[in-house]
Amino acid sequence: MSRRIYLDHAATTPLLEEVVGAMLSALREHYGNPSSIHAEGRRARALVEAGRKTIAQAIGASTAEVFFTSGGTEGNNMAIKCAVRDLGVRRIVSSPTEHHAVLHAIEAVSREYSLEVFWLRVDALGQPNLEQLEELLAQQDAQPTLVSLMHANNEIGTLLDLSTAAQLCQQYGALLHTDAVQTVGHFPIDVRQSPVAFLTGSAHKFHGPKGVGFVYINRNNFTRPFIDGGGQERNMRGGTENVAGIVGMAKALELALRDLEARTQHIRQLRRHFMARLREAFDDIRFNGNPESDADLYTVLSVSFPPSPKNELLLLHLDIAGISASGGSACTSGAEQHSSHVLEAIQADPKRKTIRFSFSHLNQPDEIEETVLRLQQILSTSERGAIV
Ligand code: PLP
Repeated sequence: MSRRIYLDHAATTPLLEEVVGAMLSALREHYGNPSSIHAEGRRARALVEAGRKTIAQAIGASTAEVFFTSGGTEGNNMAIKCAVRDLGVRRIVSSPTEHHAVLHAIEAVSREYSLEVFWLRVDALGQPNLEQLEELLAQQDAQPTLVSLMHANNEIGTLLDLSTAAQLCQQYGALLHTDAVQTVGHFPIDVRQSPVAFLTGSAHKFHGPKGVGFVYINRNNFTRPFIDGGGQERNMRGGTENVAGIVGMAKALELALRDLEARTQHIRQLRRHFMARLREAFDDIRFNGNPESDADLYTVLSVSFPPSPKNELLLLHLDIAGISASGGSACTSGAEQHSSHVLEAIQADPKRKTIRFSFSHLNQPDEIEETVLRLQQILSTSERGAIV
């Protein structure tokens, strides 16, 4: 049995040993409830607050502006739903390529409140049209507006010009939420340079644990609790804190930022190599998004294979061949998706087959070589009809 090759890091990343170590120590030794006033409680509280400091410093925020959540989905829901419920937002502008955690939160909140919702046009690379955004923001009698635009797209890697979007929103007094789940720990982020009202992060996308994340809420936009309960997270989110998760997330982010430059270069090189090898090995290979540029999410390569019956179950055959990749959005992987809302939005040819490969610093060049070899085997075998 050949070794497996994991190329699905945009879905989730493995924990690093140092992260496991920090979490184990929190789990074993610091079992106190951070709300308790005794010594065990105080130790656990100290860990939570140290984690908050790490996250806040990493994004240029103050600790008062960082709230722990159960991950990206919760953070996105919290930002969007609280902005409507508590901050008077009556108009939302977003893009059709957002993650379902944003799309469905907008749909849900617009069923409950009377809202205007605008979806920006996106171009073939997946970029939302910022001119259209400006036109919408500049409208004279515009209702208070929330703009929700993801920092990087998880399927095709399109990277938003966050500082321009932030400037526009600031200029016209709109609140900006950015889903930065794919970029926290992979890009430098500074909310002082790109002022946003809300920013969402999730630990498991940068080698931290699943089920923990954070939302940055700018101090001018604090809202009422998203989860009512014991008043934790300065009354924004009730529930005993996930101490070990927070410790793991903070450790993972600390390592990610310490090694940011080296990891980025390594992954960019792997991706360039993969693109070149794919082009050599197969005819008419295309890439969705803009991986030729440096202004995209370098951890993702969305490969578009030409139409062919051989491609139909490609993801499944890759899995059998020991390669983990993804079809459409990671969160619905399992079934082989034929359409994705992102590919539809960029008007990708539905007859072609898209596979998303996504990388981390743990991948090595020989894995890229091996992946191309196995892909060649799969595609030539199925041509002879051996794979049904
Ligand atoms: N937003 C984006 C862009 C994502 O890629 C994901 C996960 O795939 C999420 C949100 C959801 O994050 P979580 O899995 O932490 O709920």
